[in-house]
Amino acid sequence: MRVLLALSITFCSIAWYPIDLSSDREKMVRGKVSLPKKKRNKKQVALTFDACERYHPSYFDFRILNYLLEKKIPSTFFISGKFLERNNLMVKSLSYYSFIEVENHSYSHEILKDKSEEYLHKDIMRNSRLIEKVTRRKPRFFRFPGGLYDKKALEMVGYLGLKTVHWSFESGDPDKEMTAEKLIRHVLKQVKDGSVLIFHINRRGWHTGEALPAIVYHLKARGYEFVLLKDLRKIPYVR
Ligand SMILES: [Zn+2]
Repeated sequence: MRVLLALSITFCSIAWYPIDLSSDREKMVRGKVSLPKKKRNKKQVALTFDACERYHPSYFDFRILNYLLEKKIPSTFFISGKFLERNNLMVKSLSYYSFIEVENHSYSHEILKDKSEEYLHKDIMRNSRLIEKVTRRKPRFFRFPGGLYDKKALEMVGYLGLKTVHWSFESGDPDKEMTAEKLIRHVLKQVKDGSVLIFHINRRGWHTGEALPAIVYHLKARGYEFVLLKDLRKIPYVR
């Protein structure tokens, strides 16, 4: 029986894989066999975290931060100036990680709709300069506090050399009712190739720290790769 099985396996392998490398190579040279196609691009997703501070002192959520650093997950932080000043040393140390990028979320974290040109210029520039001073890198992107802006504000961001990027859909993590289970289900249901995810890393994303490992795990299982915002194939700029 064993002999029969072995014979049939040998026969099958001979019958199913009659590879003649020399002739294949010859056909390739003559252009009859196409070269293997480039590996299909993986689906991408950008993890972004807002670090906002306006009236009350805010600090990093270490459940999130430790997880990102331990797993080396590319992440983009939109940091407001007041938060940056308060967490200066931590932001400085984060700037040494190549998989973390720090971007501009305004200095004041005021709503920048209906503000004067002078105010906009001063507020946005002040934070860009701060980021450059602390991280030794100029920010590329800008995110409006609350996602609210008008034409004048949007133009000012462009004039100051930044590109506005918001998010593909809200995670809803500043809502205390958004439990970790809800957050996981909500994000996994809406995410698609090229999505920009938004969470909060200033201890206002109440259950983000609990939900994040499961979100990352499931997205990786679905074939997504995490990339910095700058590395997204198609960055969803707000114009
Ligand atoms: Zn914010």
